[in-house]
Amino acid sequence: MSNIVIRHANIVTPVGNSARRGKEMDMLTVIPDGAIVISDGRITYCGADRNLKAELVSECHESIDACGRVVLPGFVDSHTHLVFGGYRPDEFEWRLKGDSYMSIMERGGGIQSTVNATRVESYSELKKKAEWFIDRMVSMGVTTVEAKSGYGLDVATEVKMLDVIDSLSKDADRKLRVVATFLGAHAVPQEYKGRTAEYVDFMIREMIPAVKGKAVFCDIFTEKNVFEIDDSRRFLQAAREAGFKLKLHADEIVTLGGAELASEMGAVSADHLLHVSDQGVARMAESGTVATLLPLTAFALREPFAPARKFIDSGAAVALATDLNPGSCFSGSIPLTIALACIYMKMSVEETITALTLNGAAALDLASETGSIEVGKSGDVVILEFENYRMLPYYVGMNCVNTVISRGRIVAHN
Ligand SMILES: [Zn+2]
Repeated sequence: MSNIVIRHANIVTPVGNSARRGKEMDMLTVIPDGAIVISDGRITYCGADRNLKAELVSECHESIDACGRVVLPGFVDSHTHLVFGGYRPDEFEWRLKGDSYMSIMERGGGIQSTVNATRVESYSELKKKAEWFIDRMVSMGVTTVEAKSGYGLDVATEVKMLDVIDSLSKDADRKLRVVATFLGAHAVPQEYKGRTAEYVDFMIREMIPAVKGKAVFCDIFTEKNVFEIDDSRRFLQAAREAGFKLKLHADEIVTLGGAELASEMGAVSADHLLHVSDQGVARMAESGTVATLLPLTAFALREPFAPARKFIDSGAAVALATDLNPGSCFSGSIPLTIALACIYMKMSVEETITALTLNGAAALDLASETGSIEVGKSGDVVILEFENYRMLPYYVGMNCVNTVISRGRIVAHN
């Protein structure tokens, strides 16, 4: 039995067990002098501090006085590639000199170079590196993270990556919840160059059965000259039949119809969407597929930001995530994500908070488990340094998280 009470908190949270769409994203519940009780990892009280019963307090082993500071739901980073071999600083320099992401990929750099490194790195090397990132994420208030495979592109390495991801959720002192995604369809590996359809066949025949039970989601890089619409559809159908929930990297580099395909397939989320068509936005608003936008990647690639306002104003659900990966976006910065969303994507601070909490959870199909501070949900909360949540983007790129509580346990105190 472990109970914790947070008193005199300025509680700020979206509410509900599903993604908030359109105008709902701007609506947060604020409890100015609030209290939260977490018993055995679950929230058992969330309300006014003055209404907190004395016997509830006496059962708590740990009491935190928030002194009026903001308490938010733990952040959900619903799109990362945090397990990988090697690093790619040379490519970063090439891009600064003007080379495009796709031109680097075509000459054997890009994802393939990380694939080569990941295939030779051991399980424990990969794990040690990932744990370094997990610690940084936790200190920025992340209590749920998604992690993708996709740097193996062969059965053995994809399985090795998913085993590392599984171990991160069990070890790493269980600091946060880790959700695994199989991304064998991240790129066409060198050995299948020019034979995309055969690689799709191979994934369906050999990889999907090998990773079944090791990942909740299946994801694909739907892009021109990578996996185009027909191959993507065929792969996603097989994944769905095998019991995976679906995600897509969609319309990142060119407008291809990835958003429309995600809606058609009932994907839980479609991610990136820098070049989504107006029709794609409308289809996602109808289907409820969460639009996961990744501003750090657009920033790092000097690309235009995804049209967040278009999605929200059309009634769609927007989530924000970091896309941490060794190539296009070597950053897991939550504070910078918040700043870019508010400054460049014209999202309100309220919408940004919803996008990083409840809608992030919805992008992982976990909206009834985490993403808001409500009775019955997992005890995942962050205490900020200040009393007014509107100061969140004002501290551009600075970490203003004071304390992080994950499943009822203090996991970081900055
Ligand atoms: Zn990605």
